[in-house]
Amino acid sequence: MTTQATDLQAPERRDFIREIVAADIVAGRVAAPVTRFPPEPNGCLHIGHAKSICLNFGIAEEFGGRCHLRFDDTNPVKEEQEYIDAIVEDVRWLGFDWGEHLYHASDYFEQLYAWAVHLIEGGVAYVDDQSADEIRETRGTLTEPGGASPWRDRPVAESLDLLARMKAGEFANGARVLRAKIDMASPNLNLRDPILYRIVHASHSRTGDAWCIYPTYDFAHGQSDAIEGVTHSICTLEFENHRPLYDWLVEHLPVPHVPRQYEFARLNLTHTVLSKRILLRLVQEGRVRGWDDPRMPTLSGLRRRGFPAEGIRDFAAMIGVAKTDSVIEVGQLEFAVRAVLNRTAPRRFGVLDPLKLVITNWPEGRVETMEVVNNPEDPAAGMRPVAFGRELWIEREDFMEEPPPKFFRLAPGREVRLRNAYFVTCDEVVKDASGAVVELRCSYDPATRGGDAPDGRRPKATLHWASAAHAVPAEVRLYDHLFSSPFPGAGGTDLFEDLNPASETIVQGAMLEPSLAEATVSETVQFERLGYFVVDPDSRPGALVFNRTLTLRDTWARVQSKGG
Ligand code: ATP
Ligand code: MG
Repeated sequence: MTTQATDLQAPERRDFIREIVAADIVAGRVAAPVTRFPPEPNGCLHIGHAKSICLNFGIAEEFGGRCHLRFDDTNPVKEEQEYIDAIVEDVRWLGFDWGEHLYHASDYFEQLYAWAVHLIEGGVAYVDDQSADEIRETRGTLTEPGGASPWRDRPVAESLDLLARMKAGEFANGARVLRAKIDMASPNLNLRDPILYRIVHASHSRTGDAWCIYPTYDFAHGQSDAIEGVTHSICTLEFENHRPLYDWLVEHLPVPHVPRQYEFARLNLTHTVLSKRILLRLVQEGRVRGWDDPRMPTLSGLRRRGFPAEGIRDFAAMIGVAKTDSVIEVGQLEFAVRAVLNRTAPRRFGVLDPLKLVITNWPEGRVETMEVVNNPEDPAAGMRPVAFGRELWIEREDFMEEPPPKFFRLAPGREVRLRNAYFVTCDEVVKDASGAVVELRCSYDPATRGGDAPDGRRPKATLHWASAAHAVPAEVRLYDHLFSSPFPGAGGTDLFEDLNPASETIVQGAMLEPSLAEATVSETVQFERLGYFVVDPDSRPGALVFNRTLTLRDTWARVQSKGG
């Protein structure tokens, strides 16, 4: 995973941020880049965060720098330790390491407070007694300047006294705020005396009840970067118009180091919502099994779905980093994941909708062991033994009593190949009282063991199977997009109306080859012809549960070749 961007002048494929970093190194502005990934612990990480993680940690790795993991824990009301733990696990799982550089914005609360005092003393911050509503109403609009607070020019000593009393807990939530004194007529609304501190009487997961005033994102973020010596503070485009404030604060404070902010386009994916607020609603309203539901775009959900970390990293590399927003086809992510699974997932036989097939000319009780290739893409994966006998399960949809012209699989009188075993011909169809097919009676050709006929004849179809006497039953959960619409909520529709009612289909009584009885949680396999599957954490010995990660069908590649 260590791609070294050794030659800084090399015109290799780089995104604009890597160009900036390379240029800064060449010009001697930085010796080695220091980046950070700064999640707010108010929810679990999603695939959008993965883009940011791969970018920040990737740059540090490639240019010999370092990347910090910093929790932006400035809002005690919405943040929880449980999310902090989950985020740590997710970033590690994705394959990145921050070494000893794990930080929290709350580590800097004392320093930030001292800097707030510094701004007041310098005449560039004041305590405002207006309510949140009043502040909002006097902020102005893009076309009209804002109005000055009646407290804007209160004496420095009074602001200092009030800030100390805010900190001491004398005032209720919302009674006062600390604001920077910048420019109420600035065309950039973020410079119209932005709020630096709020009163929030709430316990913090790390600082407990030590504080009842908390810094805003804008006040905490750049200063945390400065304290940590971050050289390139990389964030998403919505912070572009916060950059003047970021720079203003760094200029007006005696910070030990001057960081620079750069913005890139956030990841948007079709059929996917990447907003923690909405993801939290899905969890809270019970629309999914939790943050780690296999349909969720969270890293824990993708992991439970069976997406390997390598596939997610490859996806991030494939989509690159740009300066303008766009929407990426979710098929691109699936393409990257399939490429990894195709290489790594052992092949197994699993029958999702079993139909009994009895070989009438096979002696009762005889069992043969077939040697089956584990992965044609990986010779080192070797072979495994699979038991074959008189009674088998095949996929119900692989048989049709009256096949239409393009259906080449099993039908009355027709011969097919059972993969790695024998050719069988369907002689008789057994039905129940309602007319449903319950059993196929077939005969096999003993000369075709292993799947080839001495006379060279080739059946048009090869089916997967499982020996009925040996198969293990399993529950299999099939997944589809959580949202039916490629652009959920587009055009002002209620996002939740776009939820796909068929996003999860639970299949009971699938029949799997016996080697899968021992499969452990997170183990990934390919069920031949059906897709990639992973053992779900709900799985128990004797009560296996598999999730379908993806089908084998590669829509993205198809779309690509069609579109040219
Ligand atoms: P949300 O908007 O879903 O609440 P957020 O951006 O507030 O998410 P943070 O925890 O603040 O979430 O994000 C941490 C970092 O991840 C930030 O630097 C942010 O810019 C980045 N990030 C968040 N969402 C995306 C995305 N969709 N694509 C790329 N980077 C993202
Ligand atoms: Mg944020």
